[in-house]
Amino acid sequence: MEIRKRLTFLFVGIVAIILLLSSLSIFYFSSNYRQEDFYNRLRSKGRNTAKLLIEVEEVDAELLLRIELDNPESLSEEKIIIYNFANEILFNTDRDNIIQISSYLLDEIRLQGEVRFETKGYEVLGAMYTDRYDRFVVITAAKDTYGLSKLKNLRNILFIVFISGIGLASLTGWLYAGRALRPISRVVSEVDRITISSLNLRLKTDASEDEIARLATTFNKMLDRLEKAFKMQKDFISNASHELRTPLTAITGQIEVLLLKERSTSEYSETLHSVLDDIKNLNHTSNRLLLLAQASSESAISNLRPVRVDELIWQARTEVLKRSSLYQIKVNVAKEINDENKFLVNGNEQLLKTVLINLMDNGCKYSDNHTVEVSMYSDSGNLKTTFANTGIGIHSDDIHLIWEPFHRGRNALQRRGHGIGLSLVKRITEIHDGHIEVTSELNKGAVFILYLPNLNA
Ligand code: ADP
Repeated sequence: MEIRKRLTFLFVGIVAIILLLSSLSIFYFSSNYRQEDFYNRLRSKGRNTAKLLIEVEEVDAELLLRIELDNPESLSEEKIIIYNFANEILFNTDRDNIIQISSYLLDEIRLQGEVRFETKGYEVLGAMYTDRYDRFVVITAAKDTYGLSKLKNLRNILFIVFISGIGLASLTGWLYAGRALRPISRVVSEVDRITISSLNLRLKTDASEDEIARLATTFNKMLDRLEKAFKMQKDFISNASHELRTPLTAITGQIEVLLLKERSTSEYSETLHSVLDDIKNLNHTSNRLLLLAQASSESAISNLRPVRVDELIWQARTEVLKRSSLYQIKVNVAKEINDENKFLVNGNEQLLKTVLINLMDNGCKYSDNHTVEVSMYSDSGNLKTTFANTGIGIHSDDIHLIWEPFHRGRNALQRRGHGIGLSLVKRITEIHDGHIEVTSELNKGAVFILYLPNLNA
């Protein structure tokens, strides 16, 4: 159900409950008051009549009957019956015998002093009247036509007020909820306009600090992130296809040239070697792209187990040294690492080795003496590993961009590479809850610092 309808129903519900409770209590108290007032009138009427009959000698039952029947002050359809102690009727205006009084009731009145009840639409009050010598029971009955019609009128008024109150509450609730939700409807229609192809659009935000303005700002921030991620993905795909296409074009070109005419065996062999190099290169690039995709998937995080980083460093060193006979990798372990446990991290062996190989390979590749120095330290719960090399260094404009996939330093373009290594390193480090930093001075060298949290830190 729409929020507007829900809010309106809620509002109408609350108003209905309040109106109902107040109407019921008004009716209840008015009805009680009417009844009490009417019984008071019955009581005083009965008492006055009994007094006249019993205490005023000149007044006998017959005279009193005449007085009573002509009395304009009488209550509506008033009946008065007076009994003596022997239950004999001394006075009775109830000629049609409408009010039936049993001897049991008379005893009850004598016992309790006063009894009230209703019969045939009459409200009846039986009360004791005592003079110096005798005890009498006075029954006074009448219909409160006026009071009951007033009560009925009140009931109708309350009913009309209740119904019109609900109607008014529905209307105002509907209008008010619509007004309150207008900014949300605006946001919804603005959001509707934003599609994959128009991710650059933003919601209008005003200076107010209300929830809707905050929602719009938060949504805009999310769009910023989405747009960035989307652009990165697009760039990634175009860069990846470019990286894969370049060696494929080279291979095609070489084969086409080779096939133009008959060649000597040595020419075939030379071209095939070159093609093989290109294919190996292609293979290497696609493997790294695959690794990058794997490192970005959830399964990479779930496969972690205790790993000794020093052992991985030695294995990585062996692999990198195989790549060129010129490469040199020096490994130092700081004195403070006096316990094997300090080498332990919770990690994925294969992925961590990839990080170490990339950093060592870069160190050798971008250094002037093909040498990288790897040092391990223990640093407040982390295993800190530095990779330092002298050489071309990193330009300050590139230093924040080298972590992006396919970004290559402007001074590194002469050396082999595809700009995938460091983005892989960063992603894998993040999976391991670690982080990586770099400091560098152009034409002097670079130091990469890798922090990995110790297993038992
Ligand atoms: P690639 O080495 O294939 O270019 P990387 O992602 O490994 O890709 O590195 C990105 C860029 O970072 C490199 O192009 C280079 O400019 C810079 N870089 C990385 N390591 C070093 C280093 N040890 N010394 C100087 N520059 C480096």
